[in-house]
Amino acid sequence: MPRETAATQAAKPAGRPAAKPAGTLVGKLSRKDYERMLEVALVEARLGLAEGGVPIGAALFDSAGKLLGRGRNRRVQDNDPSMHAETSAFRNAGRRASYRDTIMVTTLAPCWYCSGLVRQFGIGTVVAGESATFQGGLAWLKENGVTVVDLDSAECKALLGGFIVARPEVWNEDIGVE
Ligand SMILES: [Zn+2]
Repeated sequence: MPRETAATQAAKPAGRPAAKPAGTLVGKLSRKDYERMLEVALVEARLGLAEGGVPIGAALFDSAGKLLGRGRNRRVQDNDPSMHAETSAFRNAGRRASYRDTIMVTTLAPCWYCSGLVRQFGIGTVVAGESATFQGGLAWLKENGVTVVDLDSAECKALLGGFIVARPEVWNEDIGVE
């Protein structure tokens, strides 16, 4: 029987009680599980690029790998500088009493604003597609007890790298560089 993955778990009906105490599943997700979750964020990033936006995507999952919400940077599309990929995924996930066991998966290391969101709501784990282009608040998150996984994805780097070359002014606007 094939091993359970984030994708197969995500396909199960919602509301199944967790078999293990809260938090214990996070460490059991493999790199392959995280990569599968990152693929959801990458789909969002590619959609953003196709819309003429900054190609950064994100998705929020529970500790069993079930998708809670997904989104992408919509600065250009919505003329809204506060709509970052993580913000969008977080808002699309709706209300939740606790975020301790949730996993924010994003194609790029979260900026200060989104790192603040992670801290504010107590999101337990951040999976970054890459942090070579932009380190954001990863070190700060780690120092403050957030589990950080950096997948160092060549695809994430290539997707955003291509955009930065093509639209440097929009990228600088996005990271607040004048
Ligand atoms: Zn951000």
